[in-house]
Amino acid sequence: MSVISQKLANKKRQGLYRTRRVLSSPQQPMVRVDDVNYLAFCSNDYLGLANHPRVVTAFKQAVDLYGVGSGASHLVLGHSKVHHQLEEALAEKVGRDRALLFSSGYMANVGVINALVDTGDTVFEDKLNHASLLDGGLISKAKFQRYLHNDMESLRGKLCDDKVKVAGNSKLVVTDSVFSMDGDIAPLTDISVICQQQKAMLMVDDAHGFGVMGDRGAGALNANGLTQSDVPVLMATLGKALGTAGAFIAGSDELIEYLIQEARTYIYTTALPPAIAAATLESLQLLVDENWRQDKLQQLIQRFRSGAQSLGLNVMASSTAIQPILVGEPDKALAMSQKLQDQGLLVTAIRPPTVPKGTARLRVTLSAGHSEENIDQLLEGFSSL
Ligand SMILES: *Cc1c(COP(=O)(O)O)cnc(C)c1O
Repeated sequence: MSVISQKLANKKRQGLYRTRRVLSSPQQPMVRVDDVNYLAFCSNDYLGLANHPRVVTAFKQAVDLYGVGSGASHLVLGHSKVHHQLEEALAEKVGRDRALLFSSGYMANVGVINALVDTGDTVFEDKLNHASLLDGGLISKAKFQRYLHNDMESLRGKLCDDKVKVAGNSKLVVTDSVFSMDGDIAPLTDISVICQQQKAMLMVDDAHGFGVMGDRGAGALNANGLTQSDVPVLMATLGKALGTAGAFIAGSDELIEYLIQEARTYIYTTALPPAIAAATLESLQLLVDENWRQDKLQQLIQRFRSGAQSLGLNVMASSTAIQPILVGEPDKALAMSQKLQDQGLLVTAIRPPTVPKGTARLRVTLSAGHSEENIDQLLEGFSSL
């Protein structure tokens, strides 16, 4: 057997083999997969904007104006007026000097971390950070340290470690705001205080907070009153609550100018289609015009949690749209996911290496697009397992 087929066989034996579902409908609560309709609880479209008529119209109108492809990188000739307007609107939304668009959150994270640290520097990351943050740290030439999840003593201990106290070298602390597989929230204020005490730079990935937390969706940092001087590097994505695609970094004018010079994943790639930027501008407006969506999402979260708790499900400590049910072994999680699917309900089983061994889970994600009846249907599905 070849090395590859052996590795694939191992994955299958361990219940870790991954496959894809083929969607033939828009992203919305009722989806069509392989010609069957399902009620889905697996998207990051937290506000139900991915197929919102106003967002769709903005996209179409921008296609008439700009065509489809951007045709070049931002630094060559791909930076259109609507990209620029979106950067300004994003900066204003999150209360930062400026923002810089990236083609994806993965690229933003890898690009920023690598632009900010070099040989002799150290990156400190929460153990449960998103893979793109971990990869960014691992790819960099800096030393890479992981602290225990949301554990401030562990972070402080690592930052104070003599080995990394070499004068002149910089320290970068990186954390998710909302952890993508657990749904819990980092102690952002504590982290920012520790970083200021220890003269470390702080970067927060707000992929799951932007759009849903804070004043009219301004994000987790806004919700905690953390300014640009508290958190100099803010990253958020546009493919989740905003319902479009891409990501941005927001911070000081100097930071953004530096990234334009240095971030390789910004420089060496084609700019997002301008119509995506136009659609995102409309999503930003919807955060204000339809801010009932954030409230409705919170109500659905409460409804799901109290229902799941009374069913005796092992719901994890999360107040966000990410509501994982801890199962343990991957096979069991897969079997439960399959049984739900047989009842027309889609909930993804998340297994190692995405989560630590022994903590396979069903990851329920809720959206303002869901109705209360949808939540009850899901709970009914769980009660029959
Ligand atoms: C989804 C996600 C990313 C990656 O963003 P993409 O735009 O999908 O590449 C980065 N960080 C976190 C925490 C995420 O959840």
